[in-house]
Amino acid sequence: MTNKLILIVEDNEKNRRMLRDILQVNGYQTVESETAEDGIRIAQQDLPALVLMDIQLPGMNGMEARKMLRNDPVTRHIPVVAVTASAMLHDQTEIEKTGFDAFHYKPIRIKEILKTVHDFVEKSNEAS
Ligand code: MN
Repeated sequence: MTNKLILIVEDNEKNRRMLRDILQVNGYQTVESETAEDGIRIAQQDLPALVLMDIQLPGMNGMEARKMLRNDPVTRHIPVVAVTASAMLHDQTEIEKTGFDAFHYKPIRIKEILKTVHDFVEKSNEAS
């Protein structure tokens, strides 16, 4: 059975709703959290095929969360795509160092994000 569950970690309600709608319309299941802390918990429990991770979050940020997911044997295989504001561009080196599998800049471009999700979900299902 193909795992088509996508975890969306995003504190902005509008962005969260947009990602959820785009993904659900295209046949994915979604689960959401507004904080990195909850997102990590959900990833450990639900083992999504992919995580879409905002960087600027209340409390722990997306880069810290990515490190924690990578350091946990339960979640380390799950690809994590950063979805971040272009104002964060100067932090690109730091973002890359933290080991995201890809990143997208806001505003979210539907076609691009769907292609990324499709590719990673396919890879993720092949691997497991
Ligand atoms: Mn945010």
